[in-house]
Amino acid sequence: MSSTQPKVITKSDPTRIAITWSDGHETVYPAAVLRRLCPCAHCVNEVTGQRMLDPESVPDDLQQTDVRLVGNYAICVRFGDHHDTGIFPFPFLRDHDPSGA
Ligand SMILES: [Zn+2]
Repeated sequence: MSSTQPKVITKSDPTRIAITWSDGHETVYPAAVLRRLCPCAHCVNEVTGQRMLDPESVPDDLQQTDVRLVGNYAICVRFGDHHDTGIFPFPFLRDHDPSGA
């Protein structure tokens, strides 16, 4: 449980979000990768779980323009394509480490 809590969230680089976890592990999420993972109801069918978003429609150089904490369990990311309904719980982020670690 404690390993899924972030210690530091760095959003100063608009092309990525970096999270340093409470166990010292650091994960870097390119903004485009997070956008493709977006679990919101616009991007994933709530009934079937099918992904509605075409990953190829997300440019690799997409930027994030804001990151907000949601309670103490998630972050909400606003993307350069004005999509801001995605809520990314910390365990979800930790499970989707782009480096595979
Ligand atoms: Zn979404």
